[in-house]
Amino acid sequence: MSNHLSDRIKNMSTSATLAMAAKARELRGQGKDIIGLSLGEPDFNIPEFIKEAAKQAIDDNYSSYTPVDGYAELKQAIAQKFKRDNNLVYKVSQIVVSTGAKQSLANVAMTILNAEDEVILPAPFWVSYSDIVKIAEGVPVQVPTSIDTDFKMTPDQLEEAITPKTRMLWFSSPCNPSGSVYSKEELEALAAVLVKHPNIYIVSDEIYEHINFAGDHVSIAGIDGMYDRTITVNGVSKAFAMTGWRIGYIGAPEWVAKACTKFQGQITSGANAIAQRATIAALEAPKSKIQFMIDEFHQRRDLVLQLLGEIQGFNLNVPEGAFYVFPDISSFFGKTLRGTEIQNASDFSLYLLEQANVATVTGEAFGNPNCIRISYAASEKELREAISRIAAVL
Ligand code: PMP
Ligand code: GLU
Repeated sequence: MSNHLSDRIKNMSTSATLAMAAKARELRGQGKDIIGLSLGEPDFNIPEFIKEAAKQAIDDNYSSYTPVDGYAELKQAIAQKFKRDNNLVYKVSQIVVSTGAKQSLANVAMTILNAEDEVILPAPFWVSYSDIVKIAEGVPVQVPTSIDTDFKMTPDQLEEAITPKTRMLWFSSPCNPSGSVYSKEELEALAAVLVKHPNIYIVSDEIYEHINFAGDHVSIAGIDGMYDRTITVNGVSKAFAMTGWRIGYIGAPEWVAKACTKFQGQITSGANAIAQRATIAALEAPKSKIQFMIDEFHQRRDLVLQLLGEIQGFNLNVPEGAFYVFPDISSFFGKTLRGTEIQNASDFSLYLLEQANVATVTGEAFGNPNCIRISYAASEKELREAISRIAAVL
């Protein structure tokens, strides 16, 4: 039978992070000893108190459809979390709970963008931003940054990228994939440009807020003039190691929250009931309960920087958050290694997979063709072994 796929799906890329993870799984299934440093997924178990809350929710028969925008108690917990951690005041009517932050982002794109609206993405950006924008018929406008500016967009670059068609700016801080963290002063400087353009909305993806080794996390919604134009996106996948539980949320102007609820009501009916109850426990807990994970990531970051720094040809910045390093490996382009010509970051990443059995992700997927992303959400033993294998094949 002939294939009648829509243009929409034909024009969409497969998620490079998930594709690499699937490839690593497949090779492992064939008996290969693959070390997976491709997926941004904490390798810790979910803290016990969160599991207990989920078990309790099952016993308490939380099994019906939930309110589309999330349980009232969960939205209260999210409002308190925003106040406690970010000094942001959101009413429960400004909060929408979704099936992962990925869906929160998709909801926002579908409810704000019209065809041809431009969305500024400082590159490198998280892999799914570009395709989510395209599904909503928006146009991603990449603003390239480099390791020399710690992969951060400057106010001048932002100003230059703005056109009459610009509708949104999307960014993450701490950033996936670069680990860069925007300081208060840097966000204020970007905000100073944005106040001149009142029709531009901001998606501030703060899913790595707790995994920040630089100091206090700053939310752009808290900067003068930005609150009414910012959609603050967050979730429990990273800080609480709850990736498979699929809970994300937004704090946003009420009209955006309402529209996202309307959209979600036709698409998923709302997020999983048990996971929502467990998320209440996660968000009400003091940060001290997850500090051990953050400390561990900090130590691993230092270890990875030290070990990769010993390999000639890796140009590294010091990521201040998240759990990735994003080395510039363009010095290998044009070289032939073990008979394989390395022309770009994808060749390099594939070479590491085939020769060193180490899975990474090409920077091309994140809008930076000179880099690869290495996730250090893996044990110290795995990290040491992976980097020694990488060194051996280079
Ligand atoms: N934003 C960023 C920057 C991410 O790295 C990810 C992936 N974990 C997400 C959003 C989506 O997270 P979730 O698991 O909540 O869908
Ligand atoms: N966000 C994680 C990553 O960047 C998980 C994969 C995904 O959600 O695409 O690796």
